[in-house]
Amino acid sequence: ALLRADVVSIFPDYLAPLRLSLIGKAIDTGLVELGVHDLRTWTHDRHRTVDDTPYGGGAGMVMKPEPWGAALDAIVPAGSATTPRLVVPTPSGRRFTQAVAAELAAEQHLVFACGRYEGIDSRVMADAATRMRVDEISIGDYVLNGGEAAVLVMLEAVVRLVPGVIGNPESLTEESHAAEHDGLLEGPVYTKPTSWRGLDVPPVLLSGNHGAIAAWRRDQALERTRRVRPDLAPSPLDGVEGVVVGVA
Ligand code: SAM
Repeated sequence: ALLRADVVSIFPDYLAPLRLSLIGKAIDTGLVELGVHDLRTWTHDRHRTVDDTPYGGGAGMVMKPEPWGAALDAIVPAGSATTPRLVVPTPSGRRFTQAVAAELAAEQHLVFACGRYEGIDSRVMADAATRMRVDEISIGDYVLNGGEAAVLVMLEAVVRLVPGVIGNPESLTEESHAAEHDGLLEGPVYTKPTSWRGLDVPPVLLSGNHGAIAAWRRDQALERTRRVRPDLAPSPLDGVEGVVVGVA
């Protein structure tokens, strides 16, 4: 496999959709290897406890370090050939983007630690950092109940970038947020029929003029990006030769 991913969660069933669709196919064909682990496997008390009250007080519970330590030791044995990257989903992490997805897709082994409650005892990340690269990542500025949905989102974005997973690699460079596309949002797309409910496909797309089509698509992408996500739009000076922006 090009990529191995291990996910640890107290709700392993939550990760079942990873067996469907493109990711499922990448697993079936051996491009990607997936392990889903129940954190409670590494508890030893009758109630299989994974949480406790926070030191310093406050609302909610915190995930105990011992089960996490044992889980990570089992998944990443000491002296492993490769240094995995431990991805810890958290709203206090760096923001997940297409560029981060590409970084993760270049790894050989990713381990995901799904938090619940108020998160995982911080010493778990400190201890893991002695033998793994620890990467705390947020999928956006909102709070989920647990890391599982964040892992579904991240793996969905990462696995499609693993070479061979998507049949036509050009479909990856032509879409929204692709560096090859200057990070612009993609404009509207159309298929048959040419006219539907009184709405016509823009005639340029039927013209067969590849230069005109590329120029139209670029205009649409720029217009949409400026309107919907001005923060992603290139400044009007970008690409203008002879203009120095910023100081080295
Ligand atoms: N107390 C934490 C805080 O304020 O930063 C929030 C904990 S949240 C209720 C529970 C778990 O959901 C987190 O440990 C994390 O695994 C996951 N989670 C919540 N929001 C997330 C986000 N935006 N991105 C990634 N993971 C998130």
